[in-house]
Amino acid sequence: MRPVYREEPCKTALNRVEGMPFRWSLNPYMGCAHRCTFCYVRSFEARAERPSGAAYGASIRVKTNVAQVLAAELSRPGWRRELVAVGTATDPYQPAEGRYRLTRACLAVLARARTPASLVTRSPMVVRDIDVLQELDRAAGVSVAFSIPTLDERLWKATEPDTPPPTQRLRALERLRAAGLDAGVALAPLLPGLSDAPSSIASVLRAAKEAGASFVWASPLRLPPGTRPYFLSQLAGEWPALASIYEHRYRGANLPRAQAEAIVRRAAALAAEFGLSCDRPSRARPEAVQLPLWEG
Ligand code: SF4
Repeated sequence: MRPVYREEPCKTALNRVEGMPFRWSLNPYMGCAHRCTFCYVRSFEARAERPSGAAYGASIRVKTNVAQVLAAELSRPGWRRELVAVGTATDPYQPAEGRYRLTRACLAVLARARTPASLVTRSPMVVRDIDVLQELDRAAGVSVAFSIPTLDERLWKATEPDTPPPTQRLRALERLRAAGLDAGVALAPLLPGLSDAPSSIASVLRAAKEAGASFVWASPLRLPPGTRPYFLSQLAGEWPALASIYEHRYRGANLPRAQAEAIVRRAAALAAEFGLSCDRPSRARPEAVQLPLWEG
């Protein structure tokens, strides 16, 4: 699907976040052309009465002036240089970024304002911005998490239809680490019965280790209202036998707590076997990435 891009300036750039360990987020785009079936943003779109099913990601808002607005916000005397999570509601390196370069411009603004940032992406395009990421790292700190929940080709294609292949993300991770940047892997979301088996988790962790990941974290699938119907319909088409199992296990948005924690503990134990850190502190990595029920 070829998205329509709507160039619409914004009035504010930073969003205040409640209930997360970071207080600010920044999204240069609204909507995401990667169109993952499990995307939790579908639930926000449904609540706002925008397309959250098959048409999700067909129309992307481009905040053409976001870097200028951000610069003005960060220059206010009251700004305390708190961590900014970039791209929490979209992928900051979705295809539009190749043309508009808004994420890149925002990173440069953050560096000038000595404000730390964290990014989560499924795209290798981030290597284009190694120079500005290094600048930000020197000025305040930055971390980059590559979302790689699986290396299985069928599962990737079925659930992340318009994302670059996981192998490309791993090569990008290697490039960022070689450039001295803090970069790791988010096994998110792990799908019960599809990507949460020890062998599946281990294959991602092994690849993360080989690519030099400085951290990993894992998070099981959430199915908030608005995400649930589309995900389950796609699941039923691809893995019919699993559909009723998911209906049963996901009575609400989350797995029962014990099941969710078991998945996270399994991933943490395997990570330890590979000598990978699940909890290494960082000046530019929010604690949120270590919580079990957060996915980006
Ligand atoms: S890349 Fe992230 S924001 Fe984009 S569709 Fe996938 S889960 Fe949603």
